[in-house]
Amino acid sequence: MIIKPKFKGFICTTAHPKGCARSVQEQISYVQMQKSVKGPKNVLVIGASTGYGLASRIVSTFCCGASTIGVFFEKPANANKTATAGWYNTVEFERAAKEVNCYAKSINGDAFSTAVKEQVIELIKNDLGQIDLVIYSLASPRRIHPITGETLASSIKPVGKPFSSKMIDFHKETVSEITVEPATDEEVRQTADVMGGEDWEMWMEALRDGGVLAAGATTISYSYIGPKITYPIYREGTIGIAKNDLESSAKKIHTELNKLGGKAFVSVQKALVTQASTAIPGMPLYMSLLFKVMKEKGIHENCIEQIYRLFAERLYLSTIPLDDKGRIRLDDWEMRADIQTEVSALWEKVLTENVADISDVVGYRNDFFRLFGFGLTGVEYDKEEDIHLDIPSITG
Ligand code: NAD
Repeated sequence: MIIKPKFKGFICTTAHPKGCARSVQEQISYVQMQKSVKGPKNVLVIGASTGYGLASRIVSTFCCGASTIGVFFEKPANANKTATAGWYNTVEFERAAKEVNCYAKSINGDAFSTAVKEQVIELIKNDLGQIDLVIYSLASPRRIHPITGETLASSIKPVGKPFSSKMIDFHKETVSEITVEPATDEEVRQTADVMGGEDWEMWMEALRDGGVLAAGATTISYSYIGPKITYPIYREGTIGIAKNDLESSAKKIHTELNKLGGKAFVSVQKALVTQASTAIPGMPLYMSLLFKVMKEKGIHENCIEQIYRLFAERLYLSTIPLDDKGRIRLDDWEMRADIQTEVSALWEKVLTENVADISDVVGYRNDFFRLFGFGLTGVEYDKEEDIHLDIPSITG
């Protein structure tokens, strides 16, 4: 069939297999042009099919030559409905990994469940023996708690008082005002249960008890801080409370792993267009302004550049640079004073009338469509495509 983007707001319900493949190839090519890093050998990536997790899997494979197991929650094609982008990304990732003789197996299932944890441990035991790096990169709207069975939902809301902000409709290039009502205590609790650190701790405990963690193993999860204008909706909102919880989990996991010479970190990353971040009120406008300023100064990065820098200039140095809270910082360029001063000034004056001139809304929108494999050069979008592609190694 001929595949066109079918989108509503920040959701696109179709994905293009060749476009997703091209986007993965571009990320691989970027990594192959960089210096290789003496990094991990056997890597587990939880949340491996899109965004920061996919970039982590690509850097592990194509920069360090590592074997990878990827866990994700994606849908294959069904009748005339395309697969999700993460499915097609993984088809291409596995094809390319095979080409360079790197082991890659994938498990499609609910990472929050005990069954998937057991499946992964079995696979590690059978195929790799032990793993030395665990990347926890889940972004999920819900979680079924594996012990209580409760279905928990994450919400992106301010805490304590309403949040009013400018927002952009990046399809129509209009700027308007949005007010988001504060979360209830219950919403705060559930968001922390979904996006906080409990499941990461459960993974690390299960991997340790299963005997599949190598001595000296490292684990890392990703966080965000951002500027003051987004604090009410992000860092001081429901998601920020969940991220504080994730950061406390890093400390607990670190103490446990340290007994085996291992380490746990949270790495604070740059704001980027991913399926998870487009849903945060106000963030698309902030990012459109940020990208404009960072591109002008030649320091804009995407997920792949961020994760390459994480491996090459942080994680595998003999001394890992950390902030005063023990976190790795890859948001250093985003948070540079000159960048933030310019972004704040643009934020103050941005309106529908000037948004096309003073922001990178076009770049933002292109990034959004690229997430689903649309708008990539070299892809013939008017051609019939087979949407039913298999991930060679898939279980689940
Ligand atoms: P994303 O939406 O691109 O990726 C989410 C991944 O989680 C996908 O692989 C998806 O399949 C997987 N997933 C979701 N639910 C699952 C489940 N139940 N079981 C198994 N897999 C599941 O998101 P992202 O933006 O790359 O986010 C990854 C992490 O990075 C998050 O912790 C996020 O907060 C953090 N982060 C993101 C940004 C940003 O701007 N995008 C910035 C800093 C930190």
